[in-house]
Amino acid sequence: MSTLRFRAVEDSFNRKPIEVHEPERRSAIFGKNVFNEAAMRQYLTKDSYKSVKDAIENGSKIERHVADHVSTGMKEWAITKGATHYTHWFQPLTGATAEKHDAFFETTSDGMPIEKFGGGQLVQQEPDASSFPNGGIRNTFEARGYTAWDPTSPAFIYGTTLCIPTVFVAYTGEALDYKTPLLRSLQTIDNAATAVAKYFDKGVSKVYATLGWEQEYFLIDKALAASRPDILLSGRTLLGHASAKGQQLDDHYFGSIPSRVLNYMRDLETECMYLGVPVKTRHNEVAPNQFELAPIFEEANLAVDHNSLLMDVMDKIADRHNFKVLFHEKPFAGINGSGKHNNWSLATNTGTNLLSPGSTPMKNLQFLTFFINTIKAVHEYEELIRAAIASASNDHRLGANEAPPAIISVFIGSQLTEVLDELEKVTNGKLSPQEKTELKLNVVGKIPEILLDNTDRNRTSPFAFTGNKFELRAVGSLSNCAMPMTVLNAIVAKQLILFKESVDKLIKEKKMKKDDAIFNVLREYIKTSKDIRFEGDGYGEAWEKEAKKRGLSNNKTTPEALKANVSKKTIQLYEDLGIMTKVEIEARHEIQVEEYAMHIQIEGRVLGDIARNHVIPTAIRYQNILIENVQGLKNIYGNSFKKFAGEQMQLIESISEHIAKINKGITDMIEERKKANKIEDAEKRAFAYCDKVKPYFNEIRYHCDKLELLVDDELWPLTKYRELLFTR
Ligand code: ADP
Ligand code: MG
Repeated sequence: MSTLRFRAVEDSFNRKPIEVHEPERRSAIFGKNVFNEAAMRQYLTKDSYKSVKDAIENGSKIERHVADHVSTGMKEWAITKGATHYTHWFQPLTGATAEKHDAFFETTSDGMPIEKFGGGQLVQQEPDASSFPNGGIRNTFEARGYTAWDPTSPAFIYGTTLCIPTVFVAYTGEALDYKTPLLRSLQTIDNAATAVAKYFDKGVSKVYATLGWEQEYFLIDKALAASRPDILLSGRTLLGHASAKGQQLDDHYFGSIPSRVLNYMRDLETECMYLGVPVKTRHNEVAPNQFELAPIFEEANLAVDHNSLLMDVMDKIADRHNFKVLFHEKPFAGINGSGKHNNWSLATNTGTNLLSPGSTPMKNLQFLTFFINTIKAVHEYEELIRAAIASASNDHRLGANEAPPAIISVFIGSQLTEVLDELEKVTNGKLSPQEKTELKLNVVGKIPEILLDNTDRNRTSPFAFTGNKFELRAVGSLSNCAMPMTVLNAIVAKQLILFKESVDKLIKEKKMKKDDAIFNVLREYIKTSKDIRFEGDGYGEAWEKEAKKRGLSNNKTTPEALKANVSKKTIQLYEDLGIMTKVEIEARHEIQVEEYAMHIQIEGRVLGDIARNHVIPTAIRYQNILIENVQGLKNIYGNSFKKFAGEQMQLIESISEHIAKINKGITDMIEERKKANKIEDAEKRAFAYCDKVKPYFNEIRYHCDKLELLVDDELWPLTKYRELLFTR
């Protein structure tokens, strides 16, 4: 074994689990490091507390003098918790979270040391952020962007730093982050859904989108991960022959959690408790060394922040336990990759889940209204949803027969399908009294009972209704949840606005009763959105054909998928709803296609390096041993040596063939990279990387993996799949 690989494997075998203590009940430490209700009541004056509450609930502006009070209270609280610094915490379009710490410590004009944190520092900061991606919005001469406090997501202390969630916008007002459009979409869905919810309950004055994400990840021993340049630089293995045992025995899923991993999880969960992230579920996933963590759902903005924070915390705690977390969607070929299921619903301020059936026909009509409008919205904008989950790394899952396909469809289960079929038969125009009774009793009235046993969950569906929420399962494990949530809020908001217009029109012009009008519009929607509903096997080839017939998109690669983000239809949607301007949309597109090309470029370079610097030299060393062996045999046996050297000579030839193929692959790939780099237009460059450069990866990998099987294990320098996946 090469020294590096040997040391890494030895290190990982010698690791003992780090002792984890959980001295207190979790409910007693939950939110202790969050400037939450309890902390605000203790550290803010009554008036400032009211102002902040009003800003959270109604989006009102916080006056400057109030901000001064709030910042002082926050600082006092933070200091009692041992904080020395503060930071505006934001989510630029790099995907990671960003922070720049400043100390509370200051000296007064006469040199007195003090701790200070003013309202100005709370409300707005101007980080020197000129090197965050901006898609050309900020020219270098106007490189200023600023961060602004988002009071709807509470400040928290992480380590010794007070973190203040903020938006990040250009000086000219354009959003440069994930949070700004998300907040705008939440406002939009609130307005649109509240207006519709009032048909059923006049008391509703606010609707929240809710999000419960499920985060999948791999845990690899730190030393093993460090011995693989591809994992370190690209987050995934670019080569490596499949382990003889993979996931075929299904013995990992929900299996007993290894103790080293369990200690990591407990440590992580304790940290999450302090940070107010309500984590609840943990289990082994399908692939070896793959796990999942899920929280109790929350208001969507908070949930998005919590997922971003969690990924950072997971990384840091892993380090403490000598693990490396892999969030990549496909870290290992041949076994399952990781996703992030986004469970989404709408809740009213009166405590109703609008996607949950109720006990009365009217409650169920409300459920059907939101249910059918969501399906219709997804049908209308399926391509935009696909675009929202597109990334170079997620391309490995979507359409690769393990995760939902690149075709977006909606699964609702057989019972709800029957309900929609019944509703479709509603007569055009006003309903007769018999029809109404029949509908209320036999269709709408029966929903709660049937849902109870609606357990046939279709795991191959990218967008499934799961009893009281929709579950978008195609989000990448590495992604920020904000973009898919922004899209979902936006398209459903738009759909609800159209719905309300149609219903009101029928009431006004056709003098229909409210529920007649609602039934009539829903019936039309059921008909016109039928093509998006699919109950069968989403992985099958038959579905690809069928989907094509139905006119559904099947954008398999990121550059292709991203086009929908800048279509006329999308720009109109976002502009009409005030979620993004054309400038913002186009800037984002520019960033994404550029990022895609860079991503493939980095992978290409890493693969080329490993193949040339690790694989080929190792193969040659082994080949030399074989040559020596053959020559030795010849010395002993003279002309009859071939009788004993057949296998060796064949190996010598095979090795040469594989080396030649690898070499040619790399040379050709570099040529294609050079050509791609000369392309000025970022989108075209992304396509070149996708169509011309990326195809070499598999070709090069194939021959490297063959060599791995031929070459003496003692010499092979790269930690193997079986070591990466079965050491813990
Ligand atoms: P599964 O693995 O079967 O999909 P889990 O129980 O692991 O289901 O996860 C379900 C997720 O759905 C949890 O994160 C939960 O908080 C979330 N969830 C439940 N109800 C809602 C809701 N009304 N809105 C948003 N998310 C929800
Ligand atoms: Mg799920």
